[in-house]
Amino acid sequence: MEHARPRLSRRRILQGTALAVVPYALLPERPTGAHVPGPDYALAEWQPANAANYTVANRPTSHPVDQVIIHVTQATYPNSVFVFKNPKKQVSAHYVVRSADGHTSQCVREADIAWHAGDWDHNLRSIGIEHEGWVDEPFYFTDVMYETSARLTAAICARYGIPKDRAHIIGHYEVPGTDHTDPGPHWDWTRYIRLVNAV
Ligand SMILES: [Zn+2]
Repeated sequence: MEHARPRLSRRRILQGTALAVVPYALLPERPTGAHVPGPDYALAEWQPANAANYTVANRPTSHPVDQVIIHVTQATYPNSVFVFKNPKKQVSAHYVVRSADGHTSQCVREADIAWHAGDWDHNLRSIGIEHEGWVDEPFYFTDVMYETSARLTAAICARYGIPKDRAHIIGHYEVPGTDHTDPGPHWDWTRYIRLVNAV
């Protein structure tokens, strides 16, 4: 599978060697559904999950995408990215956003089905974004994390025509049958939805 052994593309070479001098804005976003190694979101670092931790698909052709699911990691940012690379963990998300500076990694292509919602129907239809922090430690929810995540969600909504509202941008706790509480009571939904719509 391409995802297991991505070829070294010009884009990866650029990202690997010349990131400091190539403005992110000059790196184009990839067309939806194209199975090419690298992130769908130009601002994200490509940190691929192990291929055992997600399902290869061809969304939105194979399955429509109409939700963004917001998570909190309950782990550090590096540990979360590391967990997704461990084939024994059987878990992944499309993106992980770091608390301190909003740095974002993409771990699963949007065309593929990440295993984040704990519910197959919701995995099929959604993009999952993890945010570094703990549900009961609100100081992890920094201004820069809200802002960078909101820009990411806005880009996803634009790509798939997803309405930028709470019916389509939901918390993990809102997935039927889940016992997860993230992003928890300290996540400021009003602010987040306002930021997504302000992009
Ligand atoms: Zn979650």
